[in-house]
Amino acid sequence: MAARPLIFNIQRFSTHDGPGIRTTVFFKGCPLRCAWCHNPESQSFSPQLMVDEDRCVSCGMCLAACPQGAIARGADGCVRTDRAYCVACGACVDFCPEDARELAGTPAPLAAELADRLLADRMFFERSGGGVTLSGGECLAQDIDYLEELCRTLHDEGVHVAIDTCGFAPRGHVERLLPYADLWLYDLKALDDEVHRRTTGVSNERILDNLAFLARSGAKIEIRVPVVHPVNDGEEAMCALAAYVTERVGTPRVSLLPYHTTGTGKYRRLGVDPGQEGFRAPSAEHMDRLVKLLAEQGLTDVELGG
Ligand code: SF4
Ligand code: SF4
Repeated sequence: MAARPLIFNIQRFSTHDGPGIRTTVFFKGCPLRCAWCHNPESQSFSPQLMVDEDRCVSCGMCLAACPQGAIARGADGCVRTDRAYCVACGACVDFCPEDARELAGTPAPLAAELADRLLADRMFFERSGGGVTLSGGECLAQDIDYLEELCRTLHDEGVHVAIDTCGFAPRGHVERLLPYADLWLYDLKALDDEVHRRTTGVSNERILDNLAFLARSGAKIEIRVPVVHPVNDGEEAMCALAAYVTERVGTPRVSLLPYHTTGTGKYRRLGVDPGQEGFRAPSAEHMDRLVKLLAEQGLTDVELGG
């Protein structure tokens, strides 16, 4: 039987992850470590405790719930969690009256059960031209038997399926989902491999390889580019990216996604250092310039945000 992945969110009525009204399933775990990631809870393949210290009123209700003794009241009266002892069991979460505690990552239902849940919104999908998007983390890094069963079931039910991926996945996983995926939302971060390694932790070789394979296979592809200053927002870097896309993929829709800092609070709640100093969103004027630049390279179906 397929191993069940972890899920950290199922977002209904999404309008940003493909056409129409969609339900997006966020699987937990990603092989990349993008330095600008705004969903840091998506990176680890294990469950993680998130604690919102701004919400915590140090009532102490969670103290006795922890079997590891990881929660204690300090000399200043404040209640704190020692991450060194926390095993992310989640036992403390329901004891908090302020919703300051949250467990990121719960086992997904069986693929057939999840498909049933998703199909409950079929009416919205059909009326809006929407469907289901599998995202992450990196959905292709999950158990492929599970994903294939889920995608096949949705596809056989006539639901539009989009795969939101960073592309860093075994070719075999891509091949197995190919017959059931209606759309590939494909991230491209940097064509310069040195930049890619430095900012994501991996080479872009496999990513470009899988993208070229999908294009050769006739898959419908949308390219998504997180635009981060000073990583990849230079005109030269964007021209190189455009040239690669037009040569290997053709003229797909391209979404330029300006860097934003909404994930900063999540790093705090996970108890990890965001390490994002020095990144910033390009100005609106610069984003407009990049759109024009892509158009000059033949990529005229470009959207901002999304
Ligand atoms: S998640 Fe479990 S181990 Fe961690 S603080 Fe809560 S109760 Fe303790
Ligand atoms: S139960 Fe919630 S509000 Fe109370 S001390 Fe624990 S985390 Fe803080």
